[in-house]
Amino acid sequence: MTDPTAPRVVPLIDQRSISLPTPAAAFLAASRLGANGLITDSLQRPLRDLRISVTDRCNFRCNYCMPKEIFDKDYKYLPHNALLSFEEITRIAKVFVAHGVQKIRLTGGEPLLRKGLEHLIEQLAVLRTVEGLPLDITLTTNGSLLARKARDLKAAGLQRVTVSLDGLDDAVFRSMNDVDFPVADVLAGIDAAQSAGLGPIKINMVVKRGTNEHEILPMARRFQGTGIVLRFIEYMDVGATNGWRMNEVLPSRDVVQLIHSELPLVQLDPSSPGETAERWGYADASGQHDKTLGEIGVISSVTQAFCGDCNRARLSTEGQLYLCLFASKGYDLRTLVRQDAADHDLISAIGHIWAGRTDRYSELRSAMAPDASTGGRRVEMSYIGG
Ligand code: SAM
Ligand code: SF4
Ligand code: SF4
Repeated sequence: MTDPTAPRVVPLIDQRSISLPTPAAAFLAASRLGANGLITDSLQRPLRDLRISVTDRCNFRCNYCMPKEIFDKDYKYLPHNALLSFEEITRIAKVFVAHGVQKIRLTGGEPLLRKGLEHLIEQLAVLRTVEGLPLDITLTTNGSLLARKARDLKAAGLQRVTVSLDGLDDAVFRSMNDVDFPVADVLAGIDAAQSAGLGPIKINMVVKRGTNEHEILPMARRFQGTGIVLRFIEYMDVGATNGWRMNEVLPSRDVVQLIHSELPLVQLDPSSPGETAERWGYADASGQHDKTLGEIGVISSVTQAFCGDCNRARLSTEGQLYLCLFASKGYDLRTLVRQDAADHDLISAIGHIWAGRTDRYSELRSAMAPDASTGGRRVEMSYIGG
Protein backbone atom coordinates (compact mmCIF):
# COMPACT_ATOMS: atom_id res chain seq x y z
CA MET A 1 0.00 0.00 0.00
CA THR A 2 1.14 3.56 -0.65
CA ASP A 3 1.41 5.57 2.56
CA PRO A 4 -1.05 8.48 2.19
CA THR A 5 0.96 10.57 4.65
CA ALA A 6 4.21 10.13 2.76
CA PRO A 7 5.71 13.37 1.41
CA ARG A 8 5.21 14.10 -2.28
CA VAL A 9 8.29 13.12 -4.23
CA VAL A 10 8.97 14.94 -7.45
CA PRO A 11 11.72 13.20 -9.43
CA LEU A 12 14.02 15.55 -11.29
CA ILE A 13 14.23 14.03 -14.71
CA ASP A 14 13.68 15.51 -18.10
CA GLN A 15 11.12 13.13 -19.55
CA ARG A 16 11.78 14.22 -23.10
CA SER A 17 15.05 12.34 -23.14
CA ILE A 18 13.91 9.20 -21.38
CA SER A 19 14.61 7.05 -24.36
CA LEU A 20 15.78 7.64 -27.85
CA PRO A 21 12.89 7.86 -30.26
CA THR A 22 12.53 5.09 -32.78
CA PRO A 23 13.35 6.51 -36.19
CA ALA A 24 10.21 6.26 -38.27
CA ALA A 25 12.59 5.69 -41.17
CA ALA A 26 13.13 2.20 -39.79
CA PHE A 27 9.65 1.42 -41.10
CA LEU A 28 10.47 2.44 -44.64
CA ALA A 29 12.07 -0.87 -45.51
CA ALA A 30 8.93 -2.75 -44.52
CA SER A 31 6.67 -3.75 -47.37
CA ARG A 32 4.94 -0.75 -48.95
CA LEU A 33 1.61 0.09 -47.37
CA GLY A 34 -0.94 2.41 -48.96
CA ALA A 35 -3.73 4.32 -47.27
CA ASN A 36 -7.41 3.52 -47.63
CA GLY A 37 -8.67 5.03 -44.39
CA LEU A 38 -9.27 1.60 -42.90
CA ILE A 39 -6.04 0.87 -41.08
CA THR A 40 -6.32 -0.84 -37.69
CA ASP A 41 -3.74 -1.60 -35.02
CA SER A 42 -2.87 -5.01 -33.62
CA LEU A 43 -5.96 -4.86 -31.38
CA GLN A 44 -8.23 -3.97 -34.32
CA ARG A 45 -8.55 -0.31 -33.30
CA PRO A 46 -8.92 2.18 -36.18
CA LEU A 47 -7.05 5.51 -36.38
CA ARG A 48 -9.56 8.34 -36.07
CA ASP A 49 -8.24 11.05 -33.77
CA LEU A 50 -4.95 12.98 -34.03
CA ARG A 51 -3.84 15.23 -31.18
CA ILE A 52 -1.16 17.70 -32.12
CA SER A 53 0.92 19.52 -29.54
CA VAL A 54 1.97 22.88 -30.97
CA THR A 55 4.13 24.08 -28.08
CA ASP A 56 5.76 22.68 -24.93
CA ARG A 57 5.39 26.05 -23.17
CA CYS A 58 2.62 27.22 -20.90
CA ASN A 59 1.77 30.34 -18.91
CA PHE A 60 0.20 28.21 -16.12
CA ARG A 61 1.95 25.86 -13.72
CA CYS A 62 -0.87 23.47 -12.82
CA ASN A 63 0.63 21.29 -10.18
CA TYR A 64 -0.68 18.08 -11.76
CA CYS A 65 0.92 18.88 -15.12
CA MET A 66 3.83 21.37 -15.01
CA PRO A 67 4.84 21.73 -11.35
CA LYS A 68 6.89 24.84 -10.62
CA GLU A 69 9.67 22.82 -9.01
CA ILE A 70 10.50 21.29 -12.40
CA PHE A 71 9.24 23.85 -14.90
CA ASP A 72 11.18 26.76 -13.41
CA LYS A 73 13.18 29.55 -15.05
CA ASP A 74 16.05 27.17 -15.79
CA TYR A 75 13.90 24.60 -17.56
CA LYS A 76 15.08 24.07 -21.13
CA TYR A 77 12.16 24.31 -23.50
CA LEU A 78 12.54 23.17 -27.08
CA PRO A 79 14.35 25.62 -29.35
CA HIS A 80 12.25 27.05 -32.15
CA ASN A 81 13.93 25.03 -34.90
CA ALA A 82 13.06 21.80 -33.08
CA LEU A 83 9.36 22.56 -33.39
CA LEU A 84 7.47 21.30 -36.40
CA SER A 85 6.57 24.20 -38.67
CA PHE A 86 2.91 24.67 -39.63
CA GLU A 87 3.72 23.30 -43.09
CA GLU A 88 5.34 20.20 -41.57
CA ILE A 89 2.39 19.67 -39.25
CA THR A 90 -0.05 19.99 -42.12
CA ARG A 91 1.91 17.55 -44.27
CA ILE A 92 1.93 14.95 -41.49
CA ALA A 93 -1.74 15.59 -40.67
CA LYS A 94 -2.63 14.95 -44.32
CA VAL A 95 -1.09 11.48 -44.10
CA PHE A 96 -3.01 10.70 -40.92
CA VAL A 97 -6.20 11.83 -42.59
CA ALA A 98 -5.47 9.47 -45.50
CA HIS A 99 -5.26 6.67 -42.91
CA GLY A 100 -8.71 7.50 -41.52
CA VAL A 101 -8.30 10.41 -39.08
CA GLN A 102 -11.49 12.47 -38.85
CA LYS A 103 -10.75 14.68 -35.87
CA ILE A 104 -7.77 16.88 -35.04
CA ARG A 105 -7.26 18.39 -31.61
CA LEU A 106 -4.62 21.11 -31.14
CA THR A 107 -3.08 21.11 -27.70
CA GLY A 108 0.18 21.69 -25.82
CA GLY A 109 1.47 23.17 -23.47
CA GLU A 110 -0.83 26.10 -24.02
CA PRO A 111 -1.61 26.07 -27.76
CA LEU A 112 -2.68 29.72 -27.87
CA LEU A 113 0.89 30.72 -26.99
CA ARG A 114 2.05 29.48 -30.41
CA LYS A 115 2.33 32.54 -32.65
CA GLY A 116 0.03 32.66 -35.64
CA LEU A 117 -1.88 29.50 -34.70
CA GLU A 118 -4.78 30.69 -36.89
CA HIS A 119 -2.57 30.07 -39.94
CA LEU A 120 -2.13 26.43 -38.98
CA ILE A 121 -5.89 26.13 -38.48
CA GLU A 122 -6.48 27.63 -41.93
CA GLN A 123 -4.20 25.00 -43.47
CA LEU A 124 -5.84 22.13 -41.60
CA ALA A 125 -9.34 23.36 -42.34
CA VAL A 126 -8.99 22.68 -46.06
CA LEU A 127 -8.15 18.99 -45.54
CA ARG A 128 -10.91 16.46 -46.20
CA THR A 129 -11.50 13.03 -44.71
CA VAL A 130 -11.39 9.94 -46.94
CA GLU A 131 -15.17 10.31 -47.22
CA GLY A 132 -14.66 13.86 -48.52
CA LEU A 133 -15.95 15.58 -45.37
CA PRO A 134 -14.38 18.49 -43.47
CA LEU A 135 -12.33 17.49 -40.43
CA ASP A 136 -13.59 18.09 -36.93
CA ILE A 137 -10.99 20.62 -35.72
CA THR A 138 -10.88 21.49 -32.07
CA LEU A 139 -8.50 22.91 -29.49
CA THR A 140 -7.86 22.42 -25.78
CA THR A 141 -6.83 25.57 -23.94
CA ASN A 142 -6.49 26.94 -20.45
CA GLY A 143 -8.64 29.82 -21.67
CA SER A 144 -6.29 32.59 -20.56
CA LEU A 145 -5.95 34.07 -24.07
CA LEU A 146 -9.32 33.05 -25.42
CA ALA A 147 -11.13 36.36 -24.89
CA ARG A 148 -8.58 37.97 -27.22
CA LYS A 149 -8.40 35.21 -29.80
CA ALA A 150 -11.80 33.51 -30.06
CA ARG A 151 -13.06 35.42 -33.11
CA ASP A 152 -9.88 34.94 -35.17
CA LEU A 153 -9.79 31.24 -34.33
CA LYS A 154 -13.36 30.82 -35.51
CA ALA A 155 -12.68 32.79 -38.68
CA ALA A 156 -9.68 30.55 -39.42
CA GLY A 157 -11.88 27.43 -39.35
CA LEU A 158 -11.74 26.19 -35.77
CA GLN A 159 -15.06 24.55 -34.91
CA ARG A 160 -15.04 24.30 -31.16
CA VAL A 161 -12.92 24.55 -28.03
CA THR A 162 -12.43 22.65 -24.81
CA VAL A 163 -11.47 24.90 -21.92
CA SER A 164 -9.76 23.59 -18.80
CA LEU A 165 -11.20 25.02 -15.61
CA ASP A 166 -10.66 23.39 -12.23
CA GLY A 167 -12.96 25.51 -10.08
CA LEU A 168 -14.97 28.72 -9.79
CA ASP A 169 -13.61 29.89 -6.49
CA ASP A 170 -10.95 32.45 -7.34
CA ALA A 171 -8.57 31.43 -4.55
CA VAL A 172 -8.80 27.73 -5.46
CA PHE A 173 -8.32 28.49 -9.15
CA ARG A 174 -5.35 30.79 -8.57
CA SER A 175 -3.66 28.22 -6.39
CA MET A 176 -4.26 25.38 -8.87
CA ASN A 177 -2.83 27.28 -11.84
CA ASP A 178 -0.02 28.37 -9.49
CA VAL A 179 0.61 31.65 -11.32
CA ASP A 180 -2.17 33.55 -9.56
CA PHE A 181 -4.29 33.78 -12.71
CA PRO A 182 -7.83 35.04 -11.96
CA VAL A 183 -10.79 32.82 -12.76
CA ALA A 184 -12.79 35.79 -14.10
CA ASP A 185 -10.47 36.04 -17.13
CA VAL A 186 -11.04 32.39 -18.06
CA LEU A 187 -14.80 32.83 -17.66
CA ALA A 188 -14.57 35.85 -19.97
CA GLY A 189 -12.72 33.64 -22.46
CA ILE A 190 -15.50 31.05 -22.31
CA ASP A 191 -18.09 33.77 -22.95
CA ALA A 192 -16.07 35.05 -25.91
CA ALA A 193 -15.83 31.53 -27.34
CA GLN A 194 -19.58 31.12 -27.01
CA SER A 195 -20.27 34.46 -28.72
CA ALA A 196 -17.86 33.55 -31.51
CA GLY A 197 -19.74 30.27 -32.14
CA LEU A 198 -16.94 27.94 -31.03
CA GLY A 199 -19.36 25.38 -29.69
CA PRO A 200 -20.53 23.12 -28.32
CA ILE A 201 -17.95 24.13 -25.72
CA LYS A 202 -16.59 21.52 -23.35
CA ILE A 203 -15.03 22.32 -20.01
CA ASN A 204 -12.48 19.95 -18.48
CA MET A 205 -12.17 19.92 -14.71
CA VAL A 206 -9.40 17.77 -13.26
CA VAL A 207 -10.59 16.64 -9.83
CA LYS A 208 -7.98 16.21 -7.11
CA ARG A 209 -9.25 14.83 -3.85
CA GLY A 210 -8.51 17.27 -1.05
CA THR A 211 -7.84 20.14 -3.47
CA ASN A 212 -10.93 21.01 -5.50
CA GLU A 213 -13.61 18.38 -4.91
CA HIS A 214 -15.74 21.01 -3.15
CA GLU A 215 -15.89 22.84 -6.48
CA ILE A 216 -17.73 19.98 -8.22
CA LEU A 217 -21.26 21.07 -7.29
CA PRO A 218 -20.75 24.81 -7.88
CA MET A 219 -19.32 23.96 -11.32
CA ALA A 220 -22.27 21.67 -12.11
CA ARG A 221 -24.79 24.32 -11.03
CA ARG A 222 -23.03 27.04 -12.98
CA PHE A 223 -22.93 25.21 -16.33
CA GLN A 224 -26.24 23.33 -16.15
CA GLY A 225 -28.57 24.56 -18.91
CA THR A 226 -25.89 26.67 -20.65
CA GLY A 227 -25.21 24.32 -23.58
CA ILE A 228 -21.69 23.81 -22.20
CA VAL A 229 -20.67 20.22 -21.43
CA LEU A 230 -18.75 19.98 -18.18
CA ARG A 231 -16.42 16.98 -17.96
CA PHE A 232 -14.77 15.72 -14.81
CA ILE A 233 -11.37 14.09 -15.32
CA GLU A 234 -9.79 11.74 -12.83
CA TYR A 235 -6.36 13.00 -11.82
CA MET A 236 -3.98 10.83 -13.83
CA ASP A 237 -0.50 9.46 -13.34
CA VAL A 238 0.77 11.02 -16.57
CA GLY A 239 4.45 11.89 -16.83
CA ALA A 240 6.67 11.53 -13.78
CA THR A 241 6.89 15.02 -12.36
CA ASN A 242 3.51 15.48 -10.68
CA GLY A 243 4.15 13.16 -7.72
CA TRP A 244 0.86 11.35 -8.42
CA ARG A 245 -0.72 9.34 -5.62
CA MET A 246 -3.78 7.13 -5.89
CA ASN A 247 -5.34 8.60 -2.76
CA GLU A 248 -5.63 11.97 -4.55
CA VAL A 249 -7.85 10.43 -7.23
CA LEU A 250 -11.57 10.93 -6.71
CA PRO A 251 -13.27 8.14 -8.68
CA SER A 252 -15.77 9.30 -11.29
CA ARG A 253 -18.52 7.22 -9.70
CA ASP A 254 -18.22 9.45 -6.58
CA VAL A 255 -18.48 12.57 -8.75
CA VAL A 256 -21.63 11.25 -10.42
CA GLN A 257 -23.14 10.29 -7.06
CA LEU A 258 -22.41 13.70 -5.57
CA ILE A 259 -24.01 15.59 -8.44
CA HIS A 260 -26.93 13.14 -8.66
CA SER A 261 -27.75 13.78 -4.99
CA GLU A 262 -28.63 17.38 -5.85
CA LEU A 263 -29.16 17.47 -9.61
CA PRO A 264 -30.62 14.11 -10.75
CA LEU A 265 -28.76 12.41 -13.58
CA VAL A 266 -29.54 9.70 -16.08
CA GLN A 267 -26.89 7.78 -18.05
CA LEU A 268 -26.72 8.47 -21.81
CA ASP A 269 -25.36 6.39 -24.70
CA PRO A 270 -21.86 7.20 -25.99
CA SER A 271 -22.01 9.70 -28.85
CA SER A 272 -19.28 7.97 -30.88
CA PRO A 273 -17.04 4.92 -30.69
CA GLY A 274 -13.78 5.65 -28.90
CA GLU A 275 -15.46 8.41 -26.84
CA THR A 276 -13.38 9.03 -23.70
CA ALA A 277 -16.18 10.42 -21.55
CA GLU A 278 -19.10 8.53 -20.06
CA ARG A 279 -22.16 10.75 -20.57
CA TRP A 280 -24.79 11.64 -17.98
CA GLY A 281 -27.80 13.85 -18.74
CA TYR A 282 -29.67 16.02 -16.27
CA ALA A 283 -33.07 14.43 -15.66
CA ASP A 284 -36.53 15.98 -15.54
CA ALA A 285 -39.10 15.17 -12.84
CA SER A 286 -40.05 11.92 -14.61
CA GLY A 287 -36.43 10.72 -14.72
CA GLN A 288 -35.99 11.33 -18.47
CA HIS A 289 -33.10 13.31 -19.93
CA ASP A 290 -34.05 16.98 -20.14
CA LYS A 291 -32.05 18.26 -23.10
CA THR A 292 -32.52 21.88 -22.09
CA LEU A 293 -30.58 21.13 -18.89
CA GLY A 294 -27.77 19.49 -20.85
CA GLU A 295 -25.28 16.87 -19.79
CA ILE A 296 -21.98 16.21 -18.05
CA GLY A 297 -19.21 13.74 -18.82
CA VAL A 298 -16.83 11.79 -16.61
CA ILE A 299 -13.45 10.59 -17.82
CA SER A 300 -12.37 7.68 -15.67
CA SER A 301 -8.90 7.07 -17.03
CA VAL A 302 -7.72 5.68 -13.70
CA THR A 303 -10.64 3.69 -12.28
CA GLN A 304 -12.17 2.43 -15.51
CA ALA A 305 -9.88 1.69 -18.39
CA PHE A 306 -11.14 2.55 -21.85
CA CYS A 307 -8.29 1.37 -24.06
CA GLY A 308 -10.48 -1.14 -25.91
CA ASP A 309 -11.54 1.33 -28.57
CA CYS A 310 -8.79 3.97 -28.20
CA ASN A 311 -8.33 5.45 -31.66
CA ARG A 312 -6.04 8.35 -30.71
CA ALA A 313 -2.54 9.15 -31.97
CA ARG A 314 -0.43 11.99 -30.60
CA LEU A 315 2.11 14.15 -32.39
CA SER A 316 4.54 15.93 -30.09
CA THR A 317 5.76 19.49 -30.57
CA GLU A 318 8.97 18.20 -32.15
CA GLY A 319 7.34 15.66 -34.40
CA GLN A 320 7.47 12.45 -32.38
CA LEU A 321 4.50 10.17 -32.86
CA TYR A 322 3.17 8.67 -29.61
CA LEU A 323 0.67 5.82 -29.66
CA CYS A 324 -0.51 6.25 -26.06
CA LEU A 325 -0.71 9.06 -23.50
CA PHE A 326 1.44 6.93 -21.23
CA ALA A 327 4.00 5.84 -23.81
CA SER A 328 7.68 6.10 -22.97
CA LYS A 329 8.90 6.34 -26.53
CA GLY A 330 7.85 8.04 -29.70
CA TYR A 331 8.56 7.55 -33.39
CA ASP A 332 10.59 10.25 -35.08
CA LEU A 333 8.53 11.63 -37.95
CA ARG A 334 10.32 14.97 -38.07
CA THR A 335 13.53 13.50 -39.45
CA LEU A 336 11.56 11.70 -42.12
CA VAL A 337 9.80 14.90 -43.12
CA ARG A 338 12.97 16.99 -43.03
CA GLN A 339 14.78 14.42 -45.18
CA ASP A 340 12.15 15.02 -47.83
CA ALA A 341 10.60 11.58 -47.68
CA ALA A 342 8.09 11.04 -50.47
CA ASP A 343 4.39 11.04 -49.57
CA HIS A 344 4.06 7.31 -50.18
CA ASP A 345 7.00 6.64 -47.82
CA LEU A 346 5.40 8.73 -45.07
CA ILE A 347 2.09 6.97 -45.60
CA SER A 348 3.76 3.58 -45.45
CA ALA A 349 5.84 4.36 -42.33
CA ILE A 350 2.89 5.76 -40.35
CA GLY A 351 0.71 2.87 -41.49
CA HIS A 352 3.24 0.29 -40.29
CA ILE A 353 3.69 2.07 -36.96
CA TRP A 354 -0.07 2.15 -36.31
CA ALA A 355 -0.53 -1.44 -37.52
CA GLY A 356 2.00 -2.60 -34.91
CA ARG A 357 0.38 -0.69 -32.02
CA THR A 358 -0.31 -2.75 -28.91
CA ASP A 359 -0.62 0.05 -26.27
CA ARG A 360 -3.30 -0.25 -23.58
CA TYR A 361 -1.70 1.29 -20.54
CA SER A 362 -4.83 2.10 -18.53
CA GLU A 363 -6.07 -1.46 -18.83
CA LEU A 364 -2.73 -2.77 -17.64
CA ARG A 365 -2.35 -0.19 -14.85
CA SER A 366 -4.92 -1.90 -12.68
CA ALA A 367 -2.85 -5.07 -12.85
CA MET A 368 0.30 -3.24 -11.66
CA ALA A 369 1.54 -2.74 -8.13
CA PRO A 370 0.78 0.88 -7.05
CA ASP A 371 4.45 1.78 -6.86
CA ALA A 372 5.19 0.34 -10.27
CA SER A 373 2.38 2.39 -11.78
CA THR A 374 3.86 5.66 -10.51
CA GLY A 375 7.48 4.78 -11.12
CA GLY A 376 7.32 4.10 -14.86
CA ARG A 377 9.30 6.46 -17.08
CA ARG A 378 6.75 8.27 -19.15
CA VAL A 379 6.52 11.33 -21.29
CA GLU A 380 5.03 14.55 -19.83
CA MET A 381 1.48 15.61 -20.68
CA SER A 382 2.64 19.16 -21.46
CA TYR A 383 4.94 17.68 -24.14
CA ILE A 384 2.44 15.54 -26.02
CA GLY A 385 -0.77 17.25 -24.95
CA GLY A 386 -3.91 15.81 -23.36
N1 SAM B 1 -2.92 23.91 -21.70
C1 SAM B 1 -4.11 23.38 -22.25
C2 SAM B 1 -5.14 23.12 -21.19
O1 SAM B 1 -4.80 23.10 -20.00
O2 SAM B 1 -6.29 22.91 -21.56
C3 SAM B 1 -3.90 22.15 -23.11
C4 SAM B 1 -2.90 21.13 -22.66
S1 SAM B 1 -3.33 20.24 -21.18
C5 SAM B 1 -1.94 19.18 -21.04
C6 SAM B 1 -4.65 19.22 -21.74
C7 SAM B 1 -5.57 18.68 -20.67
O3 SAM B 1 -4.83 17.78 -19.86
C8 SAM B 1 -6.14 19.70 -19.73
O4 SAM B 1 -7.55 19.63 -19.73
C9 SAM B 1 -5.58 19.32 -18.39
O5 SAM B 1 -6.47 19.62 -17.36
C10 SAM B 1 -5.34 17.85 -18.56
N2 SAM B 1 -4.34 17.30 -17.64
C11 SAM B 1 -3.06 17.68 -17.46
N3 SAM B 1 -2.44 16.94 -16.51
C12 SAM B 1 -3.38 16.06 -16.07
C13 SAM B 1 -3.37 15.03 -15.08
N4 SAM B 1 -2.29 14.74 -14.36
N5 SAM B 1 -4.50 14.31 -14.91
C14 SAM B 1 -5.62 14.57 -15.63
N6 SAM B 1 -5.68 15.52 -16.58
C15 SAM B 1 -4.58 16.27 -16.78
FE1 SF4 C 1 -0.51 24.39 -18.78
FE2 SF4 C 1 -2.61 22.98 -19.52
FE3 SF4 C 1 -0.62 21.80 -18.20
FE4 SF4 C 1 -2.15 23.53 -16.90
S1 SF4 C 1 -2.80 21.57 -17.80
S2 SF4 C 1 0.10 23.48 -16.87
S3 SF4 C 1 -2.64 24.96 -18.47
S4 SF4 C 1 -0.49 22.66 -20.20
FE1 SF4 D 1 -5.51 5.09 -25.22
FE2 SF4 D 1 -3.25 4.72 -23.88
FE3 SF4 D 1 -5.28 6.04 -22.74
FE4 SF4 D 1 -5.45 3.38 -23.15
S1 SF4 D 1 -4.03 4.43 -21.80
S2 SF4 D 1 -7.03 4.92 -23.59
S3 SF4 D 1 -4.31 3.20 -25.10
S4 SF4 D 1 -4.10 6.68 -24.55
